[in-house]
Amino acid sequence: MRLPSGKIVIMGGGPAGVFCACGLVELGLKAVIITRPRPFPAWEGMSERPLNSLRHFGFPQTVASLGPLVARKSHWNGNAQIQNREYILNRQTFDRALLRDAKAKGVHIIEGRIEKVVRGAEKWHISYGPQTLTADFLVEARGRESRLGRARMAGDDDHVTAPATSALLKSYHVPFGHSAMTSVAAFPAGWAWYMRDGQGTAILQIFVSSEKGELPSKEGLDQYFSRLTDQLPEAEVWLRDAQAHDNKVSVRTAAAMKTLPVGGDDFLVVGDGSLALDPLSGNGIFYAIGSGLSAVPVINTLMRRPEDKELALQFYRERIDFAFEGGCLMGKEFYASEQRWPEEAFWKRRSIWPPGEEPPPPQTTKTCKRPVVRDGYIELEDVIVCADHPRGVWQVDGVPLVKLLDLIRGGSNDDDNATEFGVDKAQVTSARKWLTVRNITG
Ligand SMILES: Cc1cc2nc3c(=O)[nH]c(=O)nc-3n(C[C@H](O)[C@H](O)[C@H](O)COP(=O)(O)OP(=O)(O)OC[C@H]3O[C@@H](n4cnc5c(N)ncnc54)[C@H](O)[C@@H]3O)c2cc1C
Repeated sequence: MRLPSGKIVIMGGGPAGVFCACGLVELGLKAVIITRPRPFPAWEGMSERPLNSLRHFGFPQTVASLGPLVARKSHWNGNAQIQNREYILNRQTFDRALLRDAKAKGVHIIEGRIEKVVRGAEKWHISYGPQTLTADFLVEARGRESRLGRARMAGDDDHVTAPATSALLKSYHVPFGHSAMTSVAAFPAGWAWYMRDGQGTAILQIFVSSEKGELPSKEGLDQYFSRLTDQLPEAEVWLRDAQAHDNKVSVRTAAAMKTLPVGGDDFLVVGDGSLALDPLSGNGIFYAIGSGLSAVPVINTLMRRPEDKELALQFYRERIDFAFEGGCLMGKEFYASEQRWPEEAFWKRRSIWPPGEEPPPPQTTKTCKRPVVRDGYIELEDVIVCADHPRGVWQVDGVPLVKLLDLIRGGSNDDDNATEFGVDKAQVTSARKWLTVRNITG
């Protein structure tokens, strides 16, 4: 084992960068985040799953920063229904809280806008304002503004992007009595997300096609936004009694995309920088947290066991490919389910992207070797691949499945196996049940 000589710099302090930094500190590595505050208002919805992660991994200030939990009303394909529930997030408040929690966990935070990143002979040099910091290992976590992966692309195939989409956002004052709510609605030119925080603020975010030349210049944005609002029947109700804060419309790129390479000897790209999901999925924060967490054993392996570099990068890359494929196919299905305007460019392009069919799940269960996380490193292990786990599972409740399967087939019972693995019988029972419900024990 080689011990890392120095520090890891994480560029960007969103959920991916913060979860990665905190995990590295927990492993005894030195992590510094350089980040700048989000320069424009951004509001998002967050489901229960990322909240569970925030609680589980000890982010109390971030949990406290969440807005109310509301039922999201959906107007899609002519049907109005309550779709699911989401917490309202003011991303500026949420991101500040994430950084406070990270600081409390021992991550060093530097506020600054990164302007230049240079790979020197031995170290990375990161310039922010008049300062420069050196790093032995670099984590690119600047979300959709990430540059590192793209700067190292080997070919055009390394950047896959869905049809260009931009989110146009405008903020409003609404009377205090208007309770918190969120709603989505489709219309011929795209779809919209409306949010009211229950404290006098509302936003309308409209997602439209933004292929080259489709969006007006900055000066024409407000007028363009008004025209879109006029085409969106739900907006009449949403914006009743609302007064625009000003005539500013902010723009965020919003297409799903994947950028390779995801890493190398001394760098890794996490979160939206390597894989950004379509915001329609509402899963971006959940994925970013998972990406930051999964990066920790990968970085640990790259730094302390460089001989396992290929295995570590294979693990990380496969995870991204799998999530991208799944996310894009789900998005395609969802866009195709809106059938009122099949000839409108926005819907036509998205209902057929990505081209091709979803690959069928594996029909037969098999065992094979795959890179997995084990004791903070990426290692090669026997896994079971089956229809509901096409990437393979190597252990359940701390019990290695393939070894357990061999023992069961050899006739041993839960008590024997608990002794064999040095775990409680209940853990073995739960792993055995995992196999039994999938008919794998026979
Ligand atoms: C329009 C839109 C709506 C969305 N809605 C939702 C939603 O409702 N629910 C959901 O779960 N997800 C949503 N997402 C996705 C979600 O925002 C992202 O998936 C998630 O924030 C990614 O986390 P990250 O840590 O990779 O990047 P980010 O959260 O983007 O964090 C990157 C950080 O890097 C900083 N940074 C960038 N450039 C520099 C620089 N040069 N120097 C220093 N710091 C820098 C940024 O300020 C930011 O703090 C939405 C995305 C978009 C575009």
